[in-house]
Amino acid sequence: MTLPPNTQVFERGWLSANGILFTDAPRSQGGAGPALVDTGYASHSAQTLALVGQALGHRTDLERVFNTHLHSDHCGGNAALQARYPQLVTAIPPGEAETIQHWACDQLSYAPTGQECPRFSFQQLLQANTELTLGAQRWEVHAAPGHDPHAVLLFQPDHACLIAGDALWENGFGVVFPELDGANAFDCVASTLDLIEELAPRTVIPGHGRVFQEVPMALQRARQRLTQFVRNPRQHRHYAAKVLLKFKLLEWQKISETALLQWVAQTPYCRTLHQQLGPEQSLQDWGLGVLEDLVRSGAAQRQTQDEQRWLLNV
Ligand SMILES: [Zn+2]
Repeated sequence: MTLPPNTQVFERGWLSANGILFTDAPRSQGGAGPALVDTGYASHSAQTLALVGQALGHRTDLERVFNTHLHSDHCGGNAALQARYPQLVTAIPPGEAETIQHWACDQLSYAPTGQECPRFSFQQLLQANTELTLGAQRWEVHAAPGHDPHAVLLFQPDHACLIAGDALWENGFGVVFPELDGANAFDCVASTLDLIEELAPRTVIPGHGRVFQEVPMALQRARQRLTQFVRNPRQHRHYAAKVLLKFKLLEWQKISETALLQWVAQTPYCRTLHQQLGPEQSLQDWGLGVLEDLVRSGAAQRQTQDEQRWLLNV
């Protein structure tokens, strides 16, 4: 897989987004400084520090962090990296800068999704239509609304390499969160897919999953999925409910059914989805129905132990 020089991808799974490390020379030596794009989920922070420390060597500091967007699985390691590297400069897309600055929990996605993200600071903004140096290469910053209204893409034109965040995966794209809030964002997803087609990347580093090169096929799959969601928004909402529950299972690995249903009852997005998808059922029964779907599809397993029902991540 051809990546631009000085680029290393940490492929991490679904709880933590992939991290992309650029081994630029330190600023003290005239380089742009080693940089990491996306920092994973909070509970994986120790692993994030270890991956960066091992790749850079313990005498070289990470100097820059960039986030494609501010979902908990992409910036959950920011705080730990800032503590480990006090000189670190963190750059975020500008859309939520004020919210992050004041850590306005109800406006950030962490409380509504019931996910964790330790408070972090930022020093710079990752503005669309600007460029930055990563791995001694010039990367373009493009706005990529849809999955997240404030997300950005990074594109290296000479190597036709795209850092896509959750705007495009090898098989689909991330939940279109603004749609859950009643905003129309499917058309933004479509425009972002058009932008990716225009950029014509040969290599895509997605937010989750392996690096891939069959980009036209991935775009075709993403558009088919989008068409399904546009025709049937309930299908998208149901998918979102399963994603939210699966994410917590990934975090907890094993949890009693009672505790999981308590989390469902406390999590604003789950409550909204219940109202949209099954208001005739109790919240508990609706939550159990989503769990049943996860078990049926093989994404979770049920176990009875000590007269309690448990759910296991699979
Ligand atoms: Zn995301």
